[in-house]
Amino acid sequence: MRYSRPVRLIFGIVILIAFGWYMAQWMTNSVMSNDVGRTEQSPAAAAPAVQAAPAAETTIEATPVEAAPVEASPVPSPTSAPTRPEELKAAALGLPAPPAINIHDWQYVLVNGDHPIEPLYYQPETLAYLNMVGDDTDIRTDYDPNRQMVDISIAQPLIDMVQGCRAAGLPVYLSSGFRDYGSQQANFDRVCANNGISDGKNAEGNYITMPAGCSEHQTGLCIDITDVYHEIKNDSIAEVPTVQWLAQHCAEYGFILRFPTEKRGITHVMGESWHFRYVGQEAARYMTDNNLCLEEFVDLYSEV
Ligand SMILES: [Zn+2]
Repeated sequence: MRYSRPVRLIFGIVILIAFGWYMAQWMTNSVMSNDVGRTEQSPAAAAPAVQAAPAAETTIEATPVEAAPVEASPVPSPTSAPTRPEELKAAALGLPAPPAINIHDWQYVLVNGDHPIEPLYYQPETLAYLNMVGDDTDIRTDYDPNRQMVDISIAQPLIDMVQGCRAAGLPVYLSSGFRDYGSQQANFDRVCANNGISDGKNAEGNYITMPAGCSEHQTGLCIDITDVYHEIKNDSIAEVPTVQWLAQHCAEYGFILRFPTEKRGITHVMGESWHFRYVGQEAARYMTDNNLCLEEFVDLYSEV
């Protein structure tokens, strides 16, 4: 069968156009395949579907790379993960992150039977003399035997706590604050003689009086508080409303109940419901919330 010349000519032109269109499509897709960032249109280029597919895969891989900086913005995650040694120690004990403090600051000093004060005859640089029942809020620095002595650093928080307690309708008596080395020695000798002991410990092996140099009272950072009706300090003090109020609220003022009875296995001091120690609000809240005594708190920050 033979076609006329015009028909053959038209047929040839159609073949050429078709070939040209195919070549144009092929070149377009080659360029797009190299442009990994912009292949959304390539699926529309129907013919070379096989080539479009890998381009689409490349796009999927490329997307997370672009999205990465957005996801990397969770800067909080590395920050919130425990990094400080004390955080790791606390986490291992199931405790929340302890305060970011310098454990060597003055308010955290640990003085006990195993850690005598340094130097042994230490005295606070400035003593404050406070009204023993909170009738005035003066902070005096002149010696006055009728007022109670503490390191001046804790005078204001102590006054605030005393006034808070009085505002709750409870009487306060500041029974004992700073005691120097010599006073503690006399105190120790007297209590030992009265109890027929020589090491200051009861039958349970816990201190009822501290040897000179091992008493926290020498730091000037603690205070024995009872009420005006209970000057003698014994177990019955725990039932006194003043002491109960203080135990409940002392952390708000930066104090802790230093020798809870249930911690005597760690402190090696008998329960002293009247002895409050200043450590600052942050540490006091952490210790109180997590039921830690000062020994346990300081140990979180120890380097060994
Ligand atoms: Zn005391």
